[in-house]
Amino acid sequence: MTKKIAVLPGDGIGPEVTAEAVKVLERLRRDFGLKIELETAPVGGAAYDLHKHPLPDSTLTLARAADAVLLGAVGGPQYDTLPRALRPEKALLGLRAELKLFANLRPAILYPQLASASTLRPEVVAGLDLLIVRELTGDIYFGEPRGVRVRADGEREGFNTMVYAEHEVERVARVAFDAARKRRKKLCSVEKANVLETSGLWREVVIRVAKDYPEIELSHMYVDNAAMQLVRAPKQFDVIVTGNLFGDILSDEAAMLTGSIGMLPSASLDAADKGMYEPIHGSAPDIAGKGIANPLATILSVAMMLRYTLNAPVLADKIEQAVSKVLDRGLRTGDIYTEGTKKVGTKEMGDAVVTAL
Ligand code: NAD
Repeated sequence: MTKKIAVLPGDGIGPEVTAEAVKVLERLRRDFGLKIELETAPVGGAAYDLHKHPLPDSTLTLARAADAVLLGAVGGPQYDTLPRALRPEKALLGLRAELKLFANLRPAILYPQLASASTLRPEVVAGLDLLIVRELTGDIYFGEPRGVRVRADGEREGFNTMVYAEHEVERVARVAFDAARKRRKKLCSVEKANVLETSGLWREVVIRVAKDYPEIELSHMYVDNAAMQLVRAPKQFDVIVTGNLFGDILSDEAAMLTGSIGMLPSASLDAADKGMYEPIHGSAPDIAGKGIANPLATILSVAMMLRYTLNAPVLADKIEQAVSKVLDRGLRTGDIYTEGTKKVGTKEMGDAVVTAL
């Protein structure tokens, strides 16, 4: 059956990197029998410019009808003064909420060819391959009550609520256990159960779900320790599962272990494995329009789409191998360039991956 992919290029370098990822998809359609149809729609600032809204109904309808969404990036300084509800970033939150994308998968992989890009010593990070599964629609970011109030003594105080229902923990835990099953079969659940009741319940539910996955080695770690262990000995981890707040911080920390934001893909999944796939980087206004952005994070997001939504793991492997080949050949965009390698632009990099396929 033909699968429908909504392509939302967005702002800044979004359209540039998305165009290269689309080339890869089209090559797979032409030469490898991938049955897909693509439809493009504006999102973020680009959508605001056209429709006065960052997530117009037409874009949302397309995203809902699609099996998978490929997103570039949104945002730009020209939109920073808009009312909060109309800012480009609102489109991301809207898509996550409307599509019920509760599990965010962020691999942090350090290609051996790029080991020198990390700020950590090569022996600590070379060969790093971990996956953070972050809960995306709950926790203190959405918990009620929240706000700023005036106390009896006249001083103002801000407050938010950390809250997780059992079903929310269970469904994201299952995504993480399933992912661990396809990898090295180790799962570390990260919380703060020594201090927070929410975390205590989180741990209880994860232990309960683990009974369905006897082949997975489950461990638990407090978030402060996890933050330390990620820089001390990151290769001890296979899959990490954690809540929205802790995952927000740890996934950026893990990304930086690799030293190359332009290389990292992500997936956000719903209960039926429908997903939104996007690079973890933003719209990079500082280099937009120059043709120098690294398209590999977006191309690797397509590999995740093939693996998690389109059920084509062989083609996913093919893309990852093609990326590796291109790095072996010494091709580098500016962000991952080191002396002795060959600097190329966005298009050349995309073309090289397509050729390597
Ligand atoms: P950013 O990720 O856009 O850029 C950070 C730095 O990394 C910049 O120096 C940029 O040039 C570089 N960079 C990022 N991606 C690159 C790539 N593919 N190739 C080469 N270099 C790359 O983060 P920022 O500067 O904090 O944010 C810029 C805008 O993007 C803001 O409007 C922000 O709100 C938005 N943003 C969007 C997303 C998203 O769409 N998911 C995520 C983060 C930030």
